[in-house]
Amino acid sequence: MSIGRAGSCTDSAFLFSGSGCSTVFGGSLRSWCSFFCGIACAETPSGPEKRGPSSSTAAPAVAPLRVAVTAPPVLDQHRIPAPQQNPGLVPERPKSTTLLKPRQESPIVIVSPLDDALNSSQELKNLLETHISPRHLGLKVLACLPAAESGVMVRVQTAAMAAPLEEHINAHPELNGVCRARAPRRPQPKILVYDVPHLEGDREEQENSFLGKLGSSNSFPAGSISVLFRRKGRGPAQHWVLSVDPVVYHCISGTNRLHWGLGSLRFRTFSEPIQCFRCLKFGHVQSRCRTQEELCSRCLGNHSYKSCSAVASTCRNCHAYNRQNRVGPRLKVNHTAVSRHCPLFLRACEEMRLRLPTVL
Ligand SMILES: [Zn+2]
Ligand SMILES: [Zn+2]
Ligand SMILES: [Zn+2]
Repeated sequence: MSIGRAGSCTDSAFLFSGSGCSTVFGGSLRSWCSFFCGIACAETPSGPEKRGPSSSTAAPAVAPLRVAVTAPPVLDQHRIPAPQQNPGLVPERPKSTTLLKPRQESPIVIVSPLDDALNSSQELKNLLETHISPRHLGLKVLACLPAAESGVMVRVQTAAMAAPLEEHINAHPELNGVCRARAPRRPQPKILVYDVPHLEGDREEQENSFLGKLGSSNSFPAGSISVLFRRKGRGPAQHWVLSVDPVVYHCISGTNRLHWGLGSLRFRTFSEPIQCFRCLKFGHVQSRCRTQEELCSRCLGNHSYKSCSAVASTCRNCHAYNRQNRVGPRLKVNHTAVSRHCPLFLRACEEMRLRLPTVL
């Protein structure tokens, strides 16, 4: 499967990457930024970086555990009892040394067409422009960008402006029944389960066997967990990255082990962003990439890393950041674009962690 580092999320793909518009849709999106007010989105391309083929089993080993996500208290009846380890022994990833603070999440309203009358994002944008006047509503729209399935993503200036715009669109007599506005969906939480032993059968059989055993051992509801991809583990074992229902995630967030038959498996929250293996930007996967040529993860060249002859590594994402942000901290570029130490990757991880869904 061609999933990126952290699975798929159509809405959030725009949100993680500061360059959502240019990353996902290419340069043609500039014109979208003129919707209503014409203020272009300002952030630079950034995003997480890939540290190896996340959809395969050959990715590099995962770094020691990151901080466990703190969750609000859970009612006892919701708690899934799991074997506990001494929390002090839980390995943690080194603290980020990045100079970059997580960016504020942009206030966004997603608008989607409800029927086949609208065939493109542009048509929907035109319709909104006909019927919605942000100025009269006292709202400031910064950009209107294409979204999946002929939808649009309207970015407003402040969080307080999103709900009124959403309500106005949904209550508008000319738009009601034609399109629907909503807040962006939160990405599904993910966990990385360490050192899953080798299982018999093909990939599908392995996953069914693993999930069946995990579900029955922990009383997880059917369908609440799915496998996204695997990484190399210790010896023949593999680390499995799973997508987890938010309620289940909430229930297991107080522990770091899951029952698995007569044993248990250690896990941690997985909050790494997806990274395109083709252009190396964050926020989308290779199958959605609009870049014509494969770009090198080791240097700034337009070639595969496999044919790279550069002696020293240069991170193209940090290089682009420095070029586009003349003021503020300069980022070191002497690492690959898939380095786990890349400051843009670390920032994206932190942003992902902050955007984990909350329940209850
Ligand atoms: Zn790409
Ligand atoms: Zn190269
Ligand atoms: Zn970098």
